[in-house]
Amino acid sequence: MALDIRKILDSLGSIPFETNLDWVPSDVIGVIAWSRAPFAKGSVTHKASGFLLLAALTVSGKFLCDRCGAEFSQCGEIPIRAALTDELEDTDNPDYYLISGGELDVSEILRSEYVLQEPTITLCPTCVA
Ligand SMILES: [Zn+2]
Repeated sequence: MALDIRKILDSLGSIPFETNLDWVPSDVIGVIAWSRAPFAKGSVTHKASGFLLLAALTVSGKFLCDRCGAEFSQCGEIPIRAALTDELEDTDNPDYYLISGGELDVSEILRSEYVLQEPTITLCPTCVA
């Protein structure tokens, strides 16, 4: 999803977004199938301190336990926070996502941030307990 944020490039403000994400289950650790497509709702804000993307990512699907091999359903809401910049010199800093041409690839940013937060091990409720 490409979000047009030209409106807030030169002035302060906020642009809300809501999007389904067409992530392939096999690309996400531990996921067998989605119960529904991953969904994100949030906003991109231009404040005096810079650009910020905030979103709640809802992930609902069938997961496979790494320990006992059980399939289980799980639904979670993951908060996402990403700093953005329109200054090329900041791109050496991996903490920033570059805004280019006034558009932002929201799904790509959410994907990267989710991967960073994603646990490397998936455990079913029984194994977690
Ligand atoms: Zn288990």
